[in-house]
Amino acid sequence: MNKEQFTKQLIDWYQSHHRALPWRETHDPYKIWLSEIILQQTRVAQGLPYYQKFVAAFPTLQALAQADEQKVLRLWQGLGYYSRARNLHACAKMIVRDFNGRFPDNYAALTKLPGVGPYTAAAIASFAFRERVAVVDGNVFRVLARIFGIEVNIASPEGKKYFTAKANELIDDTRPDLFNQAIMEFGAIHCTPVAPQCNDCIFSKTCAANLHSLQKLLPVKEKKLTVRKRYFYYVSIRYKNKWLMKKREGKDIWHGLYDFFLVESKSKKNWRTAIAKHPEFKNAKRLGKFKHVLTHQQLFATFIDVELKDEKEFVSLAKKFALMPFTQKQVDHLPKPVLISKYFESCLQA
Ligand code: SF4
Repeated sequence: MNKEQFTKQLIDWYQSHHRALPWRETHDPYKIWLSEIILQQTRVAQGLPYYQKFVAAFPTLQALAQADEQKVLRLWQGLGYYSRARNLHACAKMIVRDFNGRFPDNYAALTKLPGVGPYTAAAIASFAFRERVAVVDGNVFRVLARIFGIEVNIASPEGKKYFTAKANELIDDTRPDLFNQAIMEFGAIHCTPVAPQCNDCIFSKTCAANLHSLQKLLPVKEKKLTVRKRYFYYVSIRYKNKWLMKKREGKDIWHGLYDFFLVESKSKKNWRTAIAKHPEFKNAKRLGKFKHVLTHQQLFATFIDVELKDEKEFVSLAKKFALMPFTQKQVDHLPKPVLISKYFESCLQA
């Protein structure tokens, strides 16, 4: 499907299906801006009466700028996020003061206004001034991802860039305002997140998601996992053929598995510094270092070997640190984290 077919079909659909909303009947940047600020984090049905109350109380930007802040906040009551109302009022005052009461008439200048991000600036620039600049919101991501089969992650900066470029490539040259309204409305009432109406869709024969049953998978939204780094300093205390180990308890990783006495640190340390609080670990030496990657964690493990010559000392450390002695044969049969097995395999048999 080429650009012309896509935009024509979409705009034709919009003209016969869209909901009649007052901010769509105007090119007044003030009213468009007002509606956009009200509709941020608010559904249309909830925002509509607020828009009507504001336009009735403050029919012009000047009227809003001159209003008492208490009155603005009273009218806003019930919408929440009161900082939006304060920003709205401050922005109106600023436009009156710095721009002679006239809204900036282009995208770049609009983005410099307080509380006006790329989406709101594109909406005002295209709806009020017919600037050819695409709006990109959740509806636009969904519609483009499904129709064109785009699998780029919308939660990533690259994804946002990709979809913005795609929307700007497709936007109608002479009717950018209608194109923007149309794509958002199509996403809002037809190609909806959970129940898109594919059986009765103008794009059903060309839409990649419909042809390949990908509606549930597109758009791709993968939040970046926050990976926690942990630094483990394991002390393997041994006497002859026996090791002191313990069963892991609590809510942390590896519940029920056996490991060694552990000193954990949030930051990387020299291994001697890490165990400095324990003077009983005499003759300690570092035997190995491993990095172990889990879904949400990166473990940097250092294994410190403490080989004792005195059995009494071995028993006393077991008591002190609530550890249990195991022979190598017993250790082989214990459930252990892979990290501990790796230690036994590589460090002890080396
Ligand atoms: S066919 Fe379905 S998924 Fe594709 S655009 Fe239409 S409603 Fe959306």
